[in-house]
Amino acid sequence: MPAYDDGTLNAAGKNVVVIGGGDTAMDCVRTAIRQNAKSVKCIYRRDRENMPGSLREVTHAEEEGVDFIWLAGPRALLSDGTTKGVGHVASLRATRMRLGLPDSSGRQAPEVMADSEFTLKADLVIKALGFDPEDIPSLFNAPDLKVSRWGTISTDFNTQMTNMDGVFAVGDIVRGASLVVWAIRDGRDAAKSIETYLESKIARDAPNSQENIPAPAEAFCT
Ligand SMILES: Cc1cc2nc3c(=O)[nH]c(=O)nc-3n(C[C@H](O)[C@H](O)[C@H](O)COP(=O)(O)OP(=O)(O)OC[C@H]3O[C@@H](n4cnc5c(N)ncnc54)[C@H](O)[C@@H]3O)c2cc1C
Repeated sequence: MPAYDDGTLNAAGKNVVVIGGGDTAMDCVRTAIRQNAKSVKCIYRRDRENMPGSLREVTHAEEEGVDFIWLAGPRALLSDGTTKGVGHVASLRATRMRLGLPDSSGRQAPEVMADSEFTLKADLVIKALGFDPEDIPSLFNAPDLKVSRWGTISTDFNTQMTNMDGVFAVGDIVRGASLVVWAIRDGRDAAKSIETYLESKIARDAPNSQENIPAPAEAFCT
């Protein structure tokens, strides 16, 4: 990858801060360790017991030297404007958090603690905060393509076909952030569905299409 080769995405020798507490954050911190980062910190706005990622992964990351800062939220990325130019991150400003009353999801909502700012030295900051779909109908130049209220593509549950005839979709673009096993399973189901669709389309179109194609004998007898 060019961004790795030119050093932008290579953590070697850098103070790395990863924001987030999910499995992607654990991938990031442990990859940074393997790339020989100078230091690796992970900040997460809830505590260890309330993080979304696997506790086993956290334990492994701690064993490898990752420093977890629980109950802390990011506020700003700061540049020192001198060493590597304006726009290059030099530190991350964060605040301490505490867990308040449960929100509508039932989880305790993190709240910012007043006057609790602190700064972490950072040469590379990675936002491992999940992802949302882009505006898929615009991206695919298909304004009629039906999407869910989350922006993922809507498909028929049984056939994996979208609202556009002959267009199928599976995997994360339908489910949102999910797992490889589901993408494989959905892909296999869709392959069967596409086969059925094509067979029925050929059977449906065949009589008409035969009428339009002259038989070889007719084509050459005149
Ligand atoms: C950091 C991270 C860690 C993860 N760890 C795990 C894990 O440990 N275990 C697990 O099961 N899952 C994990 N996942 C989730 C897993 O990667 C996804 O669920 C899975 O890859 C979804 O498969 P997919 O085929 O739907 O999409 P993708 O794997 O994203 O494949 C989509 C493909 O479409 C291509 N594409 C996009 N737009 C276009 C276009 N316009 N034209 C042509 N091609 C296009 C993309 O380049 C890509 O190759 C992780 C995800 C992330 C981001």
